Amino acid sequence: MAERTHDTIESGAPDPMPYMHPVMAKNYGKWVFHNHPKPGVLYHKAASGDEVWTVKAGTQRQMDHYTVRKLADIADQFADGYVRFTTRSNIEYMVTDGAKVEPLIKALTDNGFPVGGTANSVSMVAHTQGWLHCDIPGTDASGVVKALMDDLYHDFVNCEMPNRVKLSTSCCEINCGGQADIAIIVQHTKPPKINHDLVANVCERPSVVARCPVAAIRPALVNGKPSLEVDEKKCICCGACFPPCPPMQINDPENSKIAVWVGGKNSNARSRPTFHKLVASGLPNNAPRWPEVGAVVKKILDTYKADGRPWERMNDWIDRIGWPAFFEKTGLPFTKYHVDNWRGGRSSLNASAHIRF
Ligand code: SF4
Ligand code: SF4
Repeated sequence: MAERTHDTIESGAPDPMPYMHPVMAKNYGKWVFHNHPKPGVLYHKAASGDEVWTVKAGTQRQMDHYTVRKLADIADQFADGYVRFTTRSNIEYMVTDGAKVEPLIKALTDNGFPVGGTANSVSMVAHTQGWLHCDIPGTDASGVVKALMDDLYHDFVNCEMPNRVKLSTSCCEINCGGQADIAIIVQHTKPPKINHDLVANVCERPSVVARCPVAAIRPALVNGKPSLEVDEKKCICCGACFPPCPPMQINDPENSKIAVWVGGKNSNARSRPTFHKLVASGLPNNAPRWPEVGAVVKKILDTYKADGRPWERMNDWIDRIGWPAFFEKTGLPFTKYHVDNWRGGRSSLNASAHIRF
């Protein structure tokens, strides 16, 4: 095997070994079994006899340095100074002495970090950047998550769901949050309004035309200046033209809404990966607490908790009971907007072979 080097690499995933707890590095690939002693705690036993307890706690993801220092102090005190963050912004502490597990849980909960998110609990919400980092959001994904997890605290620290529940929040329709059992995604309901004075200076018009999935954008001359026009009958309000051309303003406090999708799954454990499907649309984008979104998510979770069989993920449960029963049991209204089987996609989608960016 080639010698491992730790030179700085500016792209791709960094080498995790230098940052790994020494007992985990030593036993890498040599674990004999693992189990789940209680919510928020995983136990691993290695062939060498070494033991590791992993304690998982929820964080607010966007943290000031006081919070990061607090979490690091807890790591120094109980976990030999080693931590790792999961993709869902949980922090994990690895402990090699079983007697330290309960004091670590106490230190975390006393400092306001709930311990949970393992096995059949509701995990933390994977969320996209929101207003702080990205330049195109129609809502603040991080804010939605904070409001939602305040409501779902009980289901994070307890394992009462039929199986794991993964949630995600995405602040535009590009949905870089990915698939989830329940996904909360911005939904634009009006075509973009074009600021024609800026288009010629700011936008590369051919790339904007190529970006539209339904070929609704055409070059146009407006007031003698090169600009663009949108065929509003074709436009599906996806927002894809806004990132390469900000003068095509689509975010709007009234008409940018929030939709809820269910049944997505990335893994192929027990059943194949699936795409989530729309179940509630047109919910108000109501910062700072998004109560209407929270009510819909809670309704879906409560129904799944009561009706799902052990080990059924959200998509398995819906497959078993069928979509009519899903809408009946959750009480969510089924409307014409829920029906789209893309049978007309050949003629309505942009199927040309030219390169898009
Ligand atoms: S979901 Fe959209 S707006 Fe939010 S971070 Fe991803 S690309 Fe940016
Ligand atoms: S890219 Fe999307 S929002 Fe923009 S014109 Fe095309 S369909 Fe409408």
